[in-house]
Amino acid sequence: MVKVGLTGGIGSGKTTVSDFLLEYGIPVYNSDSQGKILMHTNLELKNDIVNIFGESIYNNGILNTNLLSSIVFSDPEKIKQLNNLVHPKVAQDFNQWIGENNNKPILVKEAAILIESGAYLNMDKIILVVSKKSIRINRVSKRDNSDLDSIEKRINFQLTDDEKVKYADYIIENNSSLDDLKYEVIRVINEINKVN
Ligand code: ATP
Repeated sequence: MVKVGLTGGIGSGKTTVSDFLLEYGIPVYNSDSQGKILMHTNLELKNDIVNIFGESIYNNGILNTNLLSSIVFSDPEKIKQLNNLVHPKVAQDFNQWIGENNNKPILVKEAAILIESGAYLNMDKIILVVSKKSIRINRVSKRDNSDLDSIEKRINFQLTDDEKVKYADYIIENNSSLDDLKYEVIRVINEINKVN
């Protein structure tokens, strides 16, 4: 089995790539959405989050994601603290997921900050999705109905593509159509299959 990490900046197209991978029968673990689920379901994690961000971060057990985002995206120290709490729980959950899917030849872990968090070290191969910053900002603003400044601020918190390229085994460029992206995904699957 090959464990493949899938990463890329905000709005680069990671989840769109994951959707194509799923169409081809390749299981994908989405670290970001699983992390959010664990922030609601894992009691130990919830307690740790309350200890750092206060009782008001949950309202009747529901995480106030707007409040959390506004805190962490204006304070690099807080985002580090949050990541240090969430990542070990996601890693644990991911290992369990691997155990449940260990009959598959390729397993993919999608994570926005796969490299920044060090999670890439546990992967056999890394796919990096890259796309021009202006295109990413436009796509995300359309997708989330969010303002351009806040998207740019979030992008600036992450490593640049130039820095991430050093860690990548496969690079998928996503600056044109969805058909072109699909073609790129097939190319990378074929390459992974070839060497394994
Ligand atoms: P995030 O880090 O914010 O979760 P992401 O990297 O997972 O983002 P996606 O959600 O896959 O990015 O893509 C961002 C938006 O751009 C989505 O609405 C998606 O449908 C759209 N999109 C992605 N690639 C293309 C493309 N080649 N052509 C048109 N739209 C695209």
